[in-house]
Amino acid sequence: MQPQRRVIALFDVDQTLTPARKTIQKAMVEAINKMGDHGVDFGIVSGSDLHKIKEQVGEDLVQKADYTFSENGLYTLRKGQFFSKMSIKDQLGESKLKKLINFSLRYIADLDIPIKRGTFIEYRTGMINISPIGRNCSREERDEFEEFDKTANVRKAFVEALKSEMGTDDLTFSIGGQISFDVFPRGWDKSFCLQYIEKDYDEIHFFGDKCQPGGNDHEIYADERTIGHEVSNPDDTLKIINELFLVGGELE
Ligand SMILES: [Mg+2]
Repeated sequence: MQPQRRVIALFDVDQTLTPARKTIQKAMVEAINKMGDHGVDFGIVSGSDLHKIKEQVGEDLVQKADYTFSENGLYTLRKGQFFSKMSIKDQLGESKLKKLINFSLRYIADLDIPIKRGTFIEYRTGMINISPIGRNCSREERDEFEEFDKTANVRKAFVEALKSEMGTDDLTFSIGGQISFDVFPRGWDKSFCLQYIEKDYDEIHFFGDKCQPGGNDHEIYADERTIGHEVSNPDDTLKIINELFLVGGELE
């Protein structure tokens, strides 16, 4: 008899585990529980902070998750308990951080887009999140901006401007979600979390919806340590979980 392969499935949150910015559906929680019954460990990998992750997937699931990598693994929980932590200000230093924030504030001030709200720049432990419209817009305004940006490419142009101002030697820029992009130290994308688990598993699956170059799931999706699954929504995720882990999949 062969020893059981150690397998973990990691999931992005928005549009992968949950509809964008909404809470998790019952069917997804059930599928994850069943996955556990089949011996597959479960992890969450999100650019969001822990508070936002808990809002979307619920406290219970975070307690149950073998790993919750919030802010791409810069603040990590194991089975709901503190595991590890790192910060962007220690890595970059205050002067570089200030240069980045000052440039972005000026750029946003000069930006001509249909509407602006508030909270344009959010400082997180491991990244700076920048939103041209402002994070405290309504859900409707958020949806409208996402549509608008598909052709206006406001975020793409902003990222290019930041790249030429700040350079790319020690910074990475990543467009994700509907209204913002993230700036973080190079290598601190979602693949950052893999260092904590690569030795403990024979197989690391990753599920995400922004897997193409420039998307915030790309690096971990393309990483040779993972088996990547690109999904378009939570239903898609459910379908692949079923095929892969539950119905006559490779673990049966
Ligand atoms: Mg996503």
